Amino acid sequence: MQPKNSVVHLPVYQPGKSVDEVKRELGLDRIIKLASNENPFGSSKQAKQAILQEVNNMSIYPDGAAQALTDAVAAHLDVERKQLIFGAGSDEIILMICRAYLVPGDEIVIADQTFPQYKHNAEIEGAVTIEVPLKDGAHDLDAMLAAVNDRTKIVWICNPNNPTGTIVSADELDQFIARIPAHVMVVLDEAYCEYVTDPNFRDALELVRRYSNVVSLRTFSKIYGLASLRIGYGIGHPDVIHTINQVREPFNTTRFAQAAALAAVQDQAFIEDCRQKNAAGIQYVQQQFARMNLDSFPAHGNFIMVDVGFSAIEVFNALLRRGIITRAGHSKYPQHIRITIGSQEENEAMVQALEEALEEVKVTK
Ligand SMILES: *Cc1c(COP(=O)(O)O)cnc(C)c1O
Repeated sequence: MQPKNSVVHLPVYQPGKSVDEVKRELGLDRIIKLASNENPFGSSKQAKQAILQEVNNMSIYPDGAAQALTDAVAAHLDVERKQLIFGAGSDEIILMICRAYLVPGDEIVIADQTFPQYKHNAEIEGAVTIEVPLKDGAHDLDAMLAAVNDRTKIVWICNPNNPTGTIVSADELDQFIARIPAHVMVVLDEAYCEYVTDPNFRDALELVRRYSNVVSLRTFSKIYGLASLRIGYGIGHPDVIHTINQVREPFNTTRFAQAAALAAVQDQAFIEDCRQKNAAGIQYVQQQFARMNLDSFPAHGNFIMVDVGFSAIEVFNALLRRGIITRAGHSKYPQHIRITIGSQEENEAMVQALEEALEEVKVTK
């Protein structure tokens, strides 16, 4: 049997270590996972209630069109129902966009580094990925525009960017969109937009209303705290959403995910509370890093990318031995680790462990 040429060389996704794995391997009882940008405050209580009620309908297929959830999100964002599509995480929206729009030989433009799924799914479709280096950890929109040509189908902008946490400002984005050719789709991955408090940031909704080639991706996995349920959505022009719907699997999101997401979107008090706690957490961590003379990129999501001054893998392992799971292994940043902002108690434990870890790595050098 011969797989597709475009698939043969693809790596299998390597998740970060799970809490149970680390406990077992290192014989620790307390683990703090700051590796996957999950919400340290869990999720809305209403979401849990909604799932418990939905358990009675377990044997019945979900509503493939997610109509009730569509109504709730359309009302929350003040967009048309026809502008929304739901997926098994925004990961699935990325997959569906690539499936619907990319053919072999097409090009996409992304930042180097950014979220890996844009390139991964482009490769499956046989498309070519043009990677444009970040400038000071942020998207270089001028250079990305210069990389656009007749073959370009999609430009992906992750805002805030994973893994660096930087944003592109509203002005930069306006200028970029005004100059991008109409045949190019611009996808703004806004997985962390609900966390942003910087006044220079504006989410993509206004651009989606004004330009038919702009799509925004959102998720319930991050600030909404529903990562295990796999539900996210796209917002775009009705024609684009129709096209993506043409490749969508009939029942791609579950009853439980839809019910929980609907309840979660109606509990904005929980979201506001998480946003405030996260902003305070960022401030605390940044102060501590400054005290330790560590440089970090401006953090706008629920994570921070810090230059540890030594091999990131070594510091990652030294933190792991102290029960703190972070994320290293970013090819362009061999001395940076990405750390999710946790609860205040978790952040304090992380800072203490990082001080010890850096001391250990320094001594063994
Ligand atoms: C977490 C994340 C996603 C996708 O999350 P889902 O769980 O698939 O919704 C998409 N983009 C970025 C940048 C992310 O960090």
